[in-house]
Amino acid sequence: MKLMEIYNLLLKAYGKRNWWPAKTPFEMMIGAILTQNTAWTNVEKAISNFGDRLSPEFIDAVSKEELAEIIRPSGYYNQKANRLKAITEWFKKYSYDIKKARQVDGKVLRKELLDVKGVGKETADSILTYALDKPFFIVDTYTRRILYRIGYDIPKGYDELRLKIEENVPRDLYIYNEFHALIVEHAKNHCKKVPNCEGCPLDAKCQKRIIDK
Ligand code: SF4
Repeated sequence: MKLMEIYNLLLKAYGKRNWWPAKTPFEMMIGAILTQNTAWTNVEKAISNFGDRLSPEFIDAVSKEELAEIIRPSGYYNQKANRLKAITEWFKKYSYDIKKARQVDGKVLRKELLDVKGVGKETADSILTYALDKPFFIVDTYTRRILYRIGYDIPKGYDELRLKIEENVPRDLYIYNEFHALIVEHAKNHCKKVPNCEGCPLDAKCQKRIIDK
């Protein structure tokens, strides 16, 4: 089954997801770091602890200890406080202006983000796609699991799989934005760890290779 066929079937089944769930691009970046190794509900608690203080200026000025306390519900809060400081420091070079950052080439931004401590490829590609309007395909556990079960050969390396997908999906911000969100939705609804194939929109063409990947 072609990737765009998967995309169209998922879109038809679940509808537009309108991601990322954040009020501002900066909040999106913060959420992308807070969501590392934790459930989204914990991120929501941490974000709500900021109240109306969630701005780069605040994160720059607040002490690491206070920041860690605010984001405690997200887990690994000391490490994540350092990471929030680091991404804010990166954003400072664009004067905290998302429009300025968006003027820069996507590959350059990706390299810069990967140089930020604690930002790995999945986090970088999420920020690029959902905050910086630069479409890069986000490869997460769900992507690997679903594509493997459908019948794809899955290379081990992150970028190998990303590039393989990107070769077959038109580099369009809207599609990349929706496709990743649809994969997450599908992994929660049907293609869970123990899959529920009944009523799955991909059922007719899936090889159902149910070995965890
Ligand atoms: S048919 Fe089953 S294994 Fe295949 S994508 Fe759907 S839920 Fe996953």
